[in-house]
Amino acid sequence: MAAGSMLLISGPSGCGKSTICDRLLTDARVVYSVSATTRAARPGEVDGVDYHFLSKEQFRAHIEAGEFIEHAEVHGNMYGTLRAPMEAAIAAGKVYLVEIDVQGALQLKALDVPGIYVFIAPPDFETLRERLTGRGTETPEVLERRLQKAEDELRERDKYDHVVINDDLEGAVSKIQALAGLA
Ligand code: ADP
Ligand code: 5GP
Repeated sequence: MAAGSMLLISGPSGCGKSTICDRLLTDARVVYSVSATTRAARPGEVDGVDYHFLSKEQFRAHIEAGEFIEHAEVHGNMYGTLRAPMEAAIAAGKVYLVEIDVQGALQLKALDVPGIYVFIAPPDFETLRERLTGRGTETPEVLERRLQKAEDELRERDKYDHVVINDDLEGAVSKIQALAGLA
């Protein structure tokens, strides 16, 4: 069986990563990388499906055991990508969908982890603000922090293989499917 590949989706908070990943996951050839995190589950989130929800001690033990291919602190919580499921999915010929923040993506790039690195950009900064506000999941203070961080993250877009502007959702999903050989 031919080896699969890693499809990495990254970009600032509110740019549409989760929405795009949900669409990509309707294809049976795509497998989602379930990250580990120390943040609390949001209503509706399922342990082992959305994230592996870990205590700080458990997370630290995974770091010490070398089980993460990358890990980073994002918005005050720890997040990490597990190595073993990625290797298994790629060996099984799947497209392994990794949705992580910009720091994590650049760590994988620096490690030369093979894959398709896609930066999702909002059409413009005002739209990003509107989408984040519209999602209604952040307090005003957290929202401002995420927007400040987004300005820095947008400057990193040239380090990726591809930049896809999430203006029209269907168009953005189709572009990514074509990049990953899923079209
Ligand atoms: P992220 O996972 O990057 O933080 P989300 O997928 O949660 O972002 O998207 C942020 C908000 O923007 C959500 O409310 C989502 O429904 C909306 N959204 C995503 N893509 C589009 C789009 N192309 N057009 C309009 N709204 C969008
Ligand atoms: P949220 O808490 O909103 O689900 O995610 C916050 C941020 O953490 C998002 O930018 C998301 O892409 C990122 N993230 C999720 N999993 C990982 C991971 O395994 N590693 C890194 N570096 N970032 C992650």
